[in-house]
Amino acid sequence: MPQTLYVATSNPGKLRDFAAAGEVFRIQIAPLPSLQDIPPPIEDGLTFEDNARIKAAYYSAFAPGCIVIADDSGLEVDAIGGEPGVRSARFAEDAGFAPEELEDADARNNLYLLQRLASRKSEKSTARYRCVIAAAREEKVFLTADGSVEGEIQTEPRGNGGFGYDPLFYLPTLRKTMAEVDLVEKQSLSHRGKAFSALLEKLRRTPY
Ligand code: IMP
Repeated sequence: MPQTLYVATSNPGKLRDFAAAGEVFRIQIAPLPSLQDIPPPIEDGLTFEDNARIKAAYYSAFAPGCIVIADDSGLEVDAIGGEPGVRSARFAEDAGFAPEELEDADARNNLYLLQRLASRKSEKSTARYRCVIAAAREEKVFLTADGSVEGEIQTEPRGNGGFGYDPLFYLPTLRKTMAEVDLVEKQSLSHRGKAFSALLEKLRRTPY
């Protein structure tokens, strides 16, 4: 196993998840040094895997010899044809939905999602989070792993933890939203935690 995996993300929610995953799965995780000074790559892939590969390959050029991991992830809501999918981070922005009272992109995305679902009669709206993590070294992706978790979109946000769509993402088996799940517990059930654990399993078996 490598000593350290460098994570290429500037998303604070993802960084917290990866730090917790490192503790749960007992591997050293560190943010890619100087990430804030590196211009981001264009994420023009059509799938989570495409974009995870683009990010991992690109950022690995800035940490020669090291293993760099990057994830691409998002929410798929069945009632709206699997949207927002790979556009999850920019869902509201792409639609030109920008109420001035909400400065935060996550808050805008959540409100926009609720508006899109408002006309639906059913209270239940099945959905899933998906995540693909790619591992690269010297600009070459040598492993990918994915994970998903099923849930329902609630009509009211609940919980103060997590990030993104977590306050709306309800886990029926736990009777909690993802924003109410403890960060350590989240690693065994979330899309990112599952993808990370699958990636480690592959890393253990792969000469790299
Ligand atoms: P990416 O940085 O292009 O992968 O965008 C991921 C986006 O999907 C985030 O900005 C969130 O909107 C959403 N997302 C992905 N994973 C999670 C999660 O674990 N919780 C909440 N929202 C998530």
